[in-house]
Amino acid sequence: MKSQQWLDYNWQIKNRLREAEELEKFISLTPSEKKALKSVKKIYPVAVTPYYLSLADPKDPDDPIRKQVVPVPAELDEKIQLRGEEDPFKEEGEIKGLTHRYPDRVLMVVTTFCAVYCRHCMRKRIFSQGEKVWNFEELKAMIDYIKSREEIKEVIISGGDPLTLNNEKLEFILKELRRIKHVEIIRLGTRLLVTAPQRFFDDKLLDILEKYSPIWINTHFNHSKEITELSQKAVERLLRRGIPVNNQAVLLKGINDDPETILKLMRNLLRIKVKPLYLFHCDPVKGVMHFRTTIEKGLEIMDYLRGRISGMGIPTYALDLPGGKGKVPLLPNYCVKNNKSEYVFKSIKGEEVSYPV
Ligand SMILES: *Cc1c(COP(=O)(O)O)cnc(C)c1O
Ligand code: SF4
Repeated sequence: MKSQQWLDYNWQIKNRLREAEELEKFISLTPSEKKALKSVKKIYPVAVTPYYLSLADPKDPDDPIRKQVVPVPAELDEKIQLRGEEDPFKEEGEIKGLTHRYPDRVLMVVTTFCAVYCRHCMRKRIFSQGEKVWNFEELKAMIDYIKSREEIKEVIISGGDPLTLNNEKLEFILKELRRIKHVEIIRLGTRLLVTAPQRFFDDKLLDILEKYSPIWINTHFNHSKEITELSQKAVERLLRRGIPVNNQAVLLKGINDDPETILKLMRNLLRIKVKPLYLFHCDPVKGVMHFRTTIEKGLEIMDYLRGRISGMGIPTYALDLPGGKGKVPLLPNYCVKNNKSEYVFKSIKGEEVSYPV
């Protein structure tokens, strides 16, 4: 399968699998998945690159790759999705595509297009609008706003997947942003390292990313199975150009909500030199509710990591507060007593250890 075509990003995009018959070239669908596909795709699009689907075990309905891309009936089940909102974080503001929640950082959505439509996407409302790329005028409106606000130090370009833009449009955005003195950091949120790493074998793209440094990439590996020779090579190419790569995983029921699975993911990320930055609790978004697990489960996983992996491999477990109130970090409680004369902490072995005031 490792033909020239397979290594061609445009081929991967052109040949995205969307229909049952196409998906079945790689995996055998269950009757309930087939039925769900028909109704779900009318509301939330379905698409997956041949590369990404090839990572799934063809026979296993519980495969973690498959569950991220093949819809199930629960996705449209009104009872299950009842308490989910389309935009719980009130991202939609005055300027289309721009969310300015923290004074120093702004989020810029530049396309609704992704190589793969993840069933657990927190911005499902965006990709369900169809595939649209912001035009130059719309981009200008966002850039003008950023220009007018000196407190903005960082721009997070997201989507949709911003690296699915062609090089010209991407360079236009980066060049305009770099002309703004107060913008120090540019961050790109992309899942292409996971879903179509072929994109990073384009030297022109890497030239652009290097030219407008400092640029950081935050990607989204959720499972060790996603770490392949190709994705590792793609990461290496970015690092050699001075572009750091961080990871933002999402805790997903039945996919990675288990201590050993997360431990293995974080270990393998470190091995390919990707820093695990966040582990997000799954957001209460309509169409995603069936992927949510409990906060207790998340804390149990975080507790399990401590002492079993390098501190560099421990992400911040966090959730996003509804209403656009921002992110909150969550930590297991290590301080079991705190009075005037001493603190008592729980060690990694579970002993209670006194610590002087
Ligand atoms: C998550 C988020 C950010 C970035 O937060 P970090 O903690 O820096 O990753 C910025 N703006 C919005 C609207 C966000 O949702
Ligand atoms: S790649 Fe990211 S933005 Fe696109 S569907 Fe997946 S989670 Fe959502």
